[in-house]
Amino acid sequence: MDDKDGVIWLDGEWLPWRDAKVHVLTHTLHYGCGVFEGLRAYQTARGAAIFRLRDHTDRLFRSAHIMNMAMPFDKDTLDQAQREAVSRNKLASAYLRPMCFFGSEGMGLHAKNIKVHVMVAAWEWGSYLGQENMERGIKVRTSSYVRNHINSVMCKAKANGNYLNSILAVREAVECGCDEALLLDHEGYVAEGSGENIFIVRRGKLYTPDLTSALEGITRETICTLAQEQGLEVVEKRITRDEVYVADEAFFTGTAAEVTPIRELDGRVIGAGGRGPVTAKLQALYFDYVQGRREDHGEWLNYVD
Ligand code: PMP
Repeated sequence: MDDKDGVIWLDGEWLPWRDAKVHVLTHTLHYGCGVFEGLRAYQTARGAAIFRLRDHTDRLFRSAHIMNMAMPFDKDTLDQAQREAVSRNKLASAYLRPMCFFGSEGMGLHAKNIKVHVMVAAWEWGSYLGQENMERGIKVRTSSYVRNHINSVMCKAKANGNYLNSILAVREAVECGCDEALLLDHEGYVAEGSGENIFIVRRGKLYTPDLTSALEGITRETICTLAQEQGLEVVEKRITRDEVYVADEAFFTGTAAEVTPIRELDGRVIGAGGRGPVTAKLQALYFDYVQGRREDHGEWLNYVD
């Protein structure tokens, strides 16, 4: 990842990709206290557009607020840096990664006066869970790792350290021959995937866990809106793992994962296996909107040029 042409924004400056480095005593590298975002820019007929840019920037600021990190830049500056990360790197479509982290001005948990640094990178990134799985669906395994407890870390923050839990879960799932993990909360109810929110479909209704132990996904919110506009009922409720086993359809949502059908959970085929009709419809709609093929919800697209 580090040996590439292109530029990365760091603290207000554009640096050559290979020179965008930090010191080994970077505080966030040691303790995981940082916040970040993941966005996608899609190719549209009018050029590259970042999907729901301000919503992601708002969440980045909320994450920083939760972690008590003083943001050294305002939202407009960050939005501009994100647009330019796409255009300066001449990307037709991209994955974007803004991150706020503590620098190497001090070490130890009690470190004071450590500076908040901000970076933005953008690169080309295809389907997160495999292009073929967008139709075939993925194999998922319930994790032996419990989702972060709401009073252990802050799950409304997209904080770096929260992803230790995700990495343990996803590695376990992959070692067991699956594509992704499903994490349960400390009470045993379905929370989310390692980097995705989950939906199930049963008798024509959509169900998704409430947000107690899950990230407030922007794709989740997009799908809820699109489903309701299609006349589908969306219910937020506690979901058990066996409700997923007997669902007609299930799918994950996320900026990286987009709308990925779940074919199997813990060796149980879900519904007919593969991508069910409701999932197919919502997935197609999602791609229509992110790729600018619909007239409405123009507010979701932020054109780079
Ligand atoms: N949950 C977790 C833990 C995530 O990392 C992500 C990806 N940001 C999501 C859910 C989905 O969020 P979004 O749709 O905003 O990308």
